[in-house]
Amino acid sequence: QLSHRLERVAHFVPKHAVVADIGSDHAYLPCYLVGNGLADRAIAGEVVKGPYESAKKQVQQEGLEDRITVRLASGLLAIEPADGVTAVVIAGMGGPLIASILEGDKNRLEGVQRLILQPNVHARAIREWAAANGWAIAEEEIIEENRKIYEIVVLEPAEKEIRFTEAELILGPKLMAERTDVFCTKWQREAAQWKNIIASMESTEQTMEIVEKKHELVRKIKLVEEVLHGEN
Ligand code: SAM
Repeated sequence: QLSHRLERVAHFVPKHAVVADIGSDHAYLPCYLVGNGLADRAIAGEVVKGPYESAKKQVQQEGLEDRITVRLASGLLAIEPADGVTAVVIAGMGGPLIASILEGDKNRLEGVQRLILQPNVHARAIREWAAANGWAIAEEEIIEENRKIYEIVVLEPAEKEIRFTEAELILGPKLMAERTDVFCTKWQREAAQWKNIIASMESTEQTMEIVEKKHELVRKIKLVEEVLHGEN
């Protein structure tokens, strides 16, 4: 029932966690975790009425109401201090939205030991948020499902100040060190797209803005290609 993507997200939830799944949609992830004894309890948070109702229905159908609480709430406001949440999952949204949800009510993260984040695009926003807020990257994974490539970024409270290089922010420090086939495919695709954008810019008026955008893309292509073709 669970997609490969959500199964990999679930893999990073520590055993016996009390987990909050923010933007839970059908609550498939908390049902899987609690139903299989992988997490003790869960909160499924949803901001939209339709998915909130689906989540409630799913939890009821699986008979898990005593261990999964579904709440209609925006972002981390679904978490209440008395819940004792130890792990938070935010999956299937853009990186900037995930970062803004984390930033929005970060006092709700007190006591949380692990954030399992799965941005569909622009994971950089999450790494920037982590570095600015005292979270370190504990694990990263990159996976492919139905020709779409997803990154999973797992954060834990940092013991020291975190600084990322530009390449690490874009590509992910652990992912670029591993350089798996899926990683290479993703960044070859991205670089090819950037090259297309540059080519299409050649036929428009070369305003300052266009020239700057081109330079930015050229810089990113160089950075990505250096990592893809690097020695280590
Ligand atoms: N997490 C599931 C997954 O990975 O398959 C569902 C992803 S779905 C594309 C995104 C869900 O997040 C939607 O159901 C949407 O209503 C919800 N959502 C978006 N912004 C939210 C917010 N600020 N707080 C709670 N839920 C949110």
